[in-house]
Amino acid sequence: MSLLVVGSVAFDSIHTPTAERERVLGGSAVYFSYAASFFTPVRLVGVVGEDWPQEATQMLKSRNIDTSGLQVKPGGKTFFWKGRYMPNMNDRETLEVDLNVFGEFDPVLPQPFIDTPFVFLANAAPTVQMKVLSQTKNPKIVFADTMDLWIRTQHAPLLELFSKIDGLVLNDSEAKLLTEEENLITAGRAIQRLGPKYVVVKKGEHGAIFFEPDGISVLPAFPTSRVVDPTGAGDSFAGGMMGYLAAAGNTDPLTLRRALAYGTLVASYNVEDFSLDRMKEIDRSHLDQRFQQYQAMLQL
Ligand code: AMP
Repeated sequence: MSLLVVGSVAFDSIHTPTAERERVLGGSAVYFSYAASFFTPVRLVGVVGEDWPQEATQMLKSRNIDTSGLQVKPGGKTFFWKGRYMPNMNDRETLEVDLNVFGEFDPVLPQPFIDTPFVFLANAAPTVQMKVLSQTKNPKIVFADTMDLWIRTQHAPLLELFSKIDGLVLNDSEAKLLTEEENLITAGRAIQRLGPKYVVVKKGEHGAIFFEPDGISVLPAFPTSRVVDPTGAGDSFAGGMMGYLAAAGNTDPLTLRRALAYGTLVASYNVEDFSLDRMKEIDRSHLDQRFQQYQAMLQL
């Protein structure tokens, strides 16, 4: 089944303790789409300026990512984010954000996208996420991502969004900020009470906690010593998860859990190099192989 994503399409400048890259391809929707494209065709909704290279769009198209919802604003500049990672490669600080055309983004779904059954509202202002949601028709399942910026500055629209989605993906510090709870189990349950029946709390190198209506499960991250650039780990996790779900076409408990495992594995590849570079080197068979190793690792 098809999968729709709306989110940022960006140039990122990334500084890690050992290396730097300037203006590489990034953005929540780009990482998500590429990750999901290992499993299923993707419909992307976003906005770029005239500085966006045509080859980048071609590269996405070659992955079966439908870019007809990618607006190109003549005279405009693409969203730009610059960040620096701390020596633990988990914490980061934002050095610069130029919203550019993303600041006035008014998403419009092409007609064939409207009845997409699987929907992911990647990191964007909650008002933008809502605009997309209101244009969809009877989606089977809607997941969203958010970040500290929106929790701090757009609390009311965020709460409205939560009442309309099935699942939320966020990291541990965001879950604590949102609920003012230090205990992640209490925080996850509090978020469920705000609307989403599924909540995924990501804990970086420590994996994720999955809250379902009937219980809680935990997933470790796949152990890798090669952490080059964690940017997009959250988005590629979500892309792998939603891509797997859309390909399976259902949301039963075992499928959901396997989807989270595949999300974990795509993210484990993504952090092994800058931008999309490592994901470009692998195919579905690499993920299936890692899935076998992951499964063996979890057998008790
Ligand atoms: P992640 O590491 O999964 O949290 O995602 C990193 C990506 O988020 C980068 O490629 C950035 O371009 C993008 N990003 C950073 N800030 C924002 C923002 N305010 N809205 C949307 N996307 C953002």
